[in-house]
Amino acid sequence: MSMRFKEVGKRGSKYTQCPICGKPDWCYSYETEYNGKLTEYVVCNRFVGRNSIPGFRYIGQTKNGTAKFVSDNDVTGATGYNYEKPVIKKDVERLSDKKLDGLNRTLLANLKLEDYHRKKLNEDGFTNELIELYNIRSYPPSDYDRKNEGLASINPTRSQLARALLEKNNGDLTGFPGAYIKEYKDSRYWTLAGYEGIIFNIQNVYGEVVMLQVRLDNPSPKSGKYKVFSSEAGVNEDGTARMPNGCGPSSRIGLVKPKVIKDSFVCYLTEGWKKAAIASNVFGSLFVTVQGVNSYSDLFAVNDRGERNIDVLRETYGVGMFVIMYDNDKFHNDYVLQAEKNLIDCLSGENFKVATSAWDSYMGKGIDDMLKAGYGFQGLKLNLVAG
Ligand SMILES: [Zn+2]
Repeated sequence: MSMRFKEVGKRGSKYTQCPICGKPDWCYSYETEYNGKLTEYVVCNRFVGRNSIPGFRYIGQTKNGTAKFVSDNDVTGATGYNYEKPVIKKDVERLSDKKLDGLNRTLLANLKLEDYHRKKLNEDGFTNELIELYNIRSYPPSDYDRKNEGLASINPTRSQLARALLEKNNGDLTGFPGAYIKEYKDSRYWTLAGYEGIIFNIQNVYGEVVMLQVRLDNPSPKSGKYKVFSSEAGVNEDGTARMPNGCGPSSRIGLVKPKVIKDSFVCYLTEGWKKAAIASNVFGSLFVTVQGVNSYSDLFAVNDRGERNIDVLRETYGVGMFVIMYDNDKFHNDYVLQAEKNLIDCLSGENFKVATSAWDSYMGKGIDDMLKAGYGFQGLKLNLVAG
């Protein structure tokens, strides 16, 4: 980032007099380059108001208490948004799937994949081709940890990422899961939540990225390895939001398409995106992912386009049968069995053929473990339960 301070009236300044107070000295302007765009600020040492003037939008006071303006002429300022003082809102509504898609893709486009993450993904069965196909990236540590714990990253800082997203969404990230307003001393700014790791994107039935999920680099035994990218964090004791303007993605289903679809009549349904992506490419089949065994309601819900997700699967892809494929260890659990039974009822009620799948426990816990161990499709036992 380059910054050039120019006192008005001095050589090199574009102003012979301050555009705010009209005097030929003491005030200054500077330009900052951000994402290749030039933003121009004017700081007037005489102005005592708190209002914008034609051509220059008042954005607050500098540390010295003088008035700061952003020129309407620059691209960044033209959004009309006050980057320095975002407004905290009480009611936060999640953005539309179309907007989520745009922002999630902007975030991913600003991220690179760390070598150690690529190595881990390769070990887990993702070829470099699949890594590209699914746009898998690294999510950097928090800015605090980078600064104070010296954690290195090839990626931009969280606040830089937030800034890129603000540019994309007219200066407001309210309703974008993962983003929130950070208040620190006198400053207030947008940043991003969550721990560092590998970031996967979860797409809806139209291929829109509606949700992100991070495989944590340092999972705690309690929280598990995977976290949805979210800034839904509840409230403090005084009722204020822990992460102002934050929100969660809610429990979405994902549709995983393999590089080559061999057969889309049978659609598998499993918990967890990563194993679905691996298995999808082995089978050449569609996979629907759920966030938890009981989180399939989105499958039958009406989406932003007024269509039911289940109908899109049937009509666009010709899905006629579902195979429910939960982890092998789950079936000792009554809660899982009940959830599976309910799901079977819902699917057969929609006239789908339904099967459950199982494999011997020595083959591995998840379908990904089983495939990695070399058992393949032949190791699967399918049990037709409806249709
Ligand atoms: Zn001035």
